Amino acid sequence: MFPAPQLNDMTELVAAAKKVASARHPVSFSGAGLSAESGIATFRDKNDNALWSKFNPAELASQDGFKANPELVIDWYNARRQTAAAAQPNAAHTTLGARKGWIHITQNVDTLLEAGGVSPENVLHLHGTLDEDHCNNQCGYSSKVNMLAPEGLKHCPRCDAYLRPSVVWFGEQLPENVFNQALHAVQQCDLLLVVGTSAQVMPAAGLIDIARENGAHIIVVNKENTPKTHSEDTVLIGSAATVLPQLFTS
Ligand code: NAD
Ligand code: ZN
Repeated sequence: MFPAPQLNDMTELVAAAKKVASARHPVSFSGAGLSAESGIATFRDKNDNALWSKFNPAELASQDGFKANPELVIDWYNARRQTAAAAQPNAAHTTLGARKGWIHITQNVDTLLEAGGVSPENVLHLHGTLDEDHCNNQCGYSSKVNMLAPEGLKHCPRCDAYLRPSVVWFGEQLPENVFNQALHAVQQCDLLLVVGTSAQVMPAAGLIDIARENGAHIIVVNKENTPKTHSEDTVLIGSAATVLPQLFTS
């Protein structure tokens, strides 16, 4: 569906593969494009699901959106949960899963890296995961969600506020502990593999600049160029599931 790197990119691909093979502290930084070929739509791609295509994710995934229409937001998350629960890791996830010694920073709220073989302790979910709810009043209550059959809007059993998904909404702070671990990882890494992110959501996208400023080489894999790339970065245009296996075997 997406073009693999063309012949004139092969030298670049081989050079990038050498960098991947020789990296001592490799880190990946991924976004929704990593899971696109597993059937999970990105926010920016056209959503095939007509029911949700008329809504703006940036409005639904926010405290204002939840205040305005909590049922709608929960229904949207529950649809995403069922899609994520049914999805299988693609070749990009399993390629990363087969490598040891990597730290994976992801903006994705699915757990397909883990399903693809990455140890959960090596995945830093900057934006949380879909499999938990917590109290919107921050009373401290949280509960696991049955992803295949999630329930509708529920009240907190402790304080009666609404429960909400344990993901980071637009305008909210990232979990401090996870962000600090990610910061540490990009400050130490010698290679940052940036896969399938538009690199527009801050502060997550700022991690790419921090890695570069600390001397890491940046390899970007995306089906199109992204604004965060610099001339010294390696940019491989193509789908994650096509390019990653080539990058790790050449
Ligand atoms: P984004 O939607 O802003 O950008 C996706 C990027 O992936 C684009 O640059 C696009 O060109 C690229 N892309 C699409 N398909 C690709 C493919 N097959 N191979 C390689 N690249 C591909 O997503 P983002 O940068 O992750 O940021 C937006 C927010 O979206 C994040 O906060 C994230 O939590 C949320 N989100 C997550 C999921 C998920 O968990 N799978 C899905 C949708 C949105
Ligand atoms: Zn509560």
